[in-house]
Amino acid sequence: MKITSIRAHPLAAPIDRPFAFSQAWVDTRVGLVVEIETDSGLTGWGDGYGPPKPLASVIDNIYAPRLTGRSPLPGDAIWEELYNALRDHGQRGIAVQALSAIDIALWDLRGKHFGAPVHELMGGPVRREVRAYATGLYRRSDDTAENHAMLREEAQGYLDAGFTAMKTKVGFGFQDDIALVGMLRDVIGDRAELFVDANHGCDRVQAARLARAMEPLDIGWFEEPVAPEDLEGYAELRRSTSIPIAGGECSFTRHDFRRILEAGAMDIIQPDTASCGGLTEAKRIADMAWTHGLRHNPHVWGTGIGLAAAMQLLAVLPTTAPAFGAHQPLLEYDSTPHPFRQDLLVEPIPVANGVAQVPTGPGLGIKVRREVLERWRMR
Ligand code: CA
Repeated sequence: MKITSIRAHPLAAPIDRPFAFSQAWVDTRVGLVVEIETDSGLTGWGDGYGPPKPLASVIDNIYAPRLTGRSPLPGDAIWEELYNALRDHGQRGIAVQALSAIDIALWDLRGKHFGAPVHELMGGPVRREVRAYATGLYRRSDDTAENHAMLREEAQGYLDAGFTAMKTKVGFGFQDDIALVGMLRDVIGDRAELFVDANHGCDRVQAARLARAMEPLDIGWFEEPVAPEDLEGYAELRRSTSIPIAGGECSFTRHDFRRILEAGAMDIIQPDTASCGGLTEAKRIADMAWTHGLRHNPHVWGTGIGLAAAMQLLAVLPTTAPAFGAHQPLLEYDSTPHPFRQDLLVEPIPVANGVAQVPTGPGLGIKVRREVLERWRMR
């Protein structure tokens, strides 16, 4: 089996009603899908989390020429070669996000070649289903009363759908944040876990004040409280609050996560499989984090292909401490508006009553609808 072509598909779709997190209003959903064709007739699909056109440029100009005409089977060897190809100029960010997309597509091909799901090739499954938490509850209006009314209804919707955990956004200022989180805890009661995410929108003082004020509200974790570079700030906050500290979606490869582990910065790491270096690197990060006793709940914010890749990883993530009451990793289930997330798949990944099923077909276990790729292609 030899690779005959590698194509990057940058995608974008406007959404009807924008929503906001601490950094921006979102009015368009984007994605980067990579397609690897072979002379055996098999096609592998990958997903890269990052700005679509720059990722496509790295794939087209740097990675694709190196891989065309070669076997897709030697996994670690290809990973090391592509990482090294941009080592002098990359090491993280767009270079590694593009590598992630390629790596996921190569795993999809290997699975199809051997007739096995990726999680079997990776030594699993450890689990066949994964509890999902709803990622949503973004700001939807600048009018506080209207915003609270909308988010109250949204939270109730997740409860009605059977979710046992959900996440909201903070980083809009102390009074705003604490009013929102208090309101949501009132709505949810003790029926679901509640997580908060600042998308690194606080400085150390703001993060410490907010954490202290949220402690009585039974917050499952405080995500990306401060800038991803400020690992000392993370560690300081972690020592000063009873709320578990999470982060890592803006960190890349074992190198960044080694620094996170050594700094004692986090209780829960959240590498994005489509950004941290692909399935190959995500598994290696998981194995490294396991020796430090950290939880690993992958960040997921991509197309259905990225979701499928996250499910394959979740199927093989080690349990932190095996026991009857063992903590199991959680799926971040993006529940915000997205015109092509699961629409891209012939069969969506099933999520019911807050539990997602690991795809069992060969490779990532999904089939892609080409007409959806064409419809949302960035021009
Ligand atoms: Ca996040």
